[in-house]
Amino acid sequence: LFFDLVEYCRQLVEEVRLNLKSQHLIFFTSQCKSISCYMDDKLLGYILSNLLSNALKYSPDGSLVRFTLACKNEQAVLKIQDQGIGIPEENQPRLFESFYRANNVGNILGTGLGLAIVKKCVDIHNGEIYFTSQLGIGTQFTVKLPVEKYIK
Ligand code: ATP
Ligand code: MG
Repeated sequence: LFFDLVEYCRQLVEEVRLNLKSQHLIFFTSQCKSISCYMDDKLLGYILSNLLSNALKYSPDGSLVRFTLACKNEQAVLKIQDQGIGIPEENQPRLFESFYRANNVGNILGTGLGLAIVKKCVDIHNGEIYFTSQLGIGTQFTVKLPVEKYIK
């Protein structure tokens, strides 16, 4: 399906805000006016809603979740950044494995499947995913997806 990634993300953020049960602030910004891409919008939805739900779940109520969209070298670059608990370094290498959870989740519920699904969806689109994280400071996930064209 052909669609505009900027518009898609804007709408998804709007939906997440409407269904929010916390006081988190979600900021969305896009560097480009429009990004025309051809991909499975359902898979894209899985990617973004899993990353956004993690950012919300693993950060304190009322904190800021930043979602930015940029374009570089025929790729859309999506970043989701939180001010949450972070991911211990020793857990980072296995984070995309099914059922794997970091040892600092405490009583935050989860099955450990979200990121495994995200990774599969990114691979299907020949994209890339990686993250950086600091314990007690926050985490930033970056997804790069090949796109058709963008308008700056
Ligand atoms: P679910 O399957 O319901 O999404 P989950 O959130 O535990 O459960 P994943 O989304 O796969 O599973 O994430 C795996 C683990 O990675 C989490 O359990 C958590 O330890 C860690 N994690 C993921 N995102 C973040 C984040 N933004 N901040 C801190 N830890 C995170
Ligand atoms: Mg999750």
